[in-house]
Amino acid sequence: MPTNPTPTAPTAPAPTGAPPRGKLAMFGGSRAVPRTARIAKWPVVTEEDQEAVSRVLASGRFTLAAHGEEEIPALEQEWAAEAGTRHCVAVSNGTAALSLALAAVGIEPGDEVIVPAFSFVATAAAPMHLLAVPVFVDVDPDTFNMTAAAVEAAITPRTRAVVVVHLHGLPADMDEINAVARKYGLAVVEDAAQAHGALYRDRPAGGLGTVGTFSLNVSKNLATCGEGGLVTTDDEGLARRVAALRQFGELSGTGTPRTYISHMLGWNNKPNAIQAAFTRSQLRRFPADLLRRERNVRPFLDRVAALPGFLAPHHPADRTHAWHILRFRVLPAAFGLDDRYAGPLRAAVQRALRAEGVPAAPYQSLPLPAQHMFRADGGFDAWPWRLAGTRPQSGEPDAFPAVFRVIEDSFALQKAHLHPDAGPLLAHYANAFEKVWENRDELARLATTLPYTPPWEEASAAGRAERESAFPA
Ligand SMILES: *Cc1c(COP(=O)(O)O)cnc(C)c1O
Repeated sequence: MPTNPTPTAPTAPAPTGAPPRGKLAMFGGSRAVPRTARIAKWPVVTEEDQEAVSRVLASGRFTLAAHGEEEIPALEQEWAAEAGTRHCVAVSNGTAALSLALAAVGIEPGDEVIVPAFSFVATAAAPMHLLAVPVFVDVDPDTFNMTAAAVEAAITPRTRAVVVVHLHGLPADMDEINAVARKYGLAVVEDAAQAHGALYRDRPAGGLGTVGTFSLNVSKNLATCGEGGLVTTDDEGLARRVAALRQFGELSGTGTPRTYISHMLGWNNKPNAIQAAFTRSQLRRFPADLLRRERNVRPFLDRVAALPGFLAPHHPADRTHAWHILRFRVLPAAFGLDDRYAGPLRAAVQRALRAEGVPAAPYQSLPLPAQHMFRADGGFDAWPWRLAGTRPQSGEPDAFPAVFRVIEDSFALQKAHLHPDAGPLLAHYANAFEKVWENRDELARLATTLPYTPPWEEASAAGRAERESAFPA
């Protein structure tokens, strides 16, 4: 595949000489990350990308059904090749991709769909859109993914499918999860919204289960200029159903004139030609970007992993990581503290890193079942909970110890590392982590005195306040 040149990011040169040490910026010292080291825009937009969009504007062929429209089917073919599947169907976004995939495998109201308790809400909203019941399972605190054992323990006679999320870009244990699914006759939907191009035992994410889904949202590793999604599968019947479901249940309209005959209850979740053309242009650089991201992120993570106070993201030897989100756990014992201080210590370290210029932030402050949308008075006018035999799960800490622990003791880096020229910026970030670690005694002391509210309590209180002000009683 030919590769377009990637414009150079407006980042500072790599740090030279001894890294800045000494007093933490939060206590008045100078920043480890100079203000000139800026985060480059993502997605990168090249002249070729702009030309791809202009080409569609000039053609006047904007929709799936436009006579002679070629961008959408071309993107589908190109992504199927990348994901190693026979078929790919483009849709309006990653959430729609999940709902359509679940509808296509035959999920009905009241069916149970096993999902991880730690993900973006869309993972569990998709079954709810079909009035199916999301059944949340805890994750592995080391990989942040659901495990086959947790899936098997959650199976009931109503279970029909499992949505496996490759969280942050790390593929889950697919062989083990597929084996459990086969044993109980479940469909496996891969939510690969964060894992474009990640490999599991040499096979790409999105081709490892019954059906795979991707997001092309601007925030993702393969982006469009707005919203988009992709569904991948080897099963031709499934692909045909997804294609019908995205357009009012019609079987026509992709290369053939629309007959306006609706064969099943579908949605209007069509992709559009501008977004397909933009992503096709991005896709030409995608393999090179993947390699460069690996080369930028790896040395940064190696430096952080050398510090005993942090658990840096890593992966088993049989898979690669798409490095969509970098999550770091802070280890209290290394700071001389016991587990009671896991939250306050993480908060202190996060604050220190931010002051140094590292945009450390939470990614998900609530386990999914604690989100109001999954509570008894949330949902779709309280559906599916009005169906006999369904009830929302507890969103309390004892039900999902690993998710709560990880929310308490970790923070994430997003976006800053996605640009192919992020290497120098990440070298500054590594300096900041090292500086913070050198000041560990001071941070440990701060952790024991810091006023602290767990992130889920803060988020729940903020949510209540938002609802009360938007919908006064
Ligand atoms: C982004 C994301 C989605 C939803 O994709 P959209 O295109 O934003 O609808 C679903 N699942 C996960 C894990 C995501 O990160």
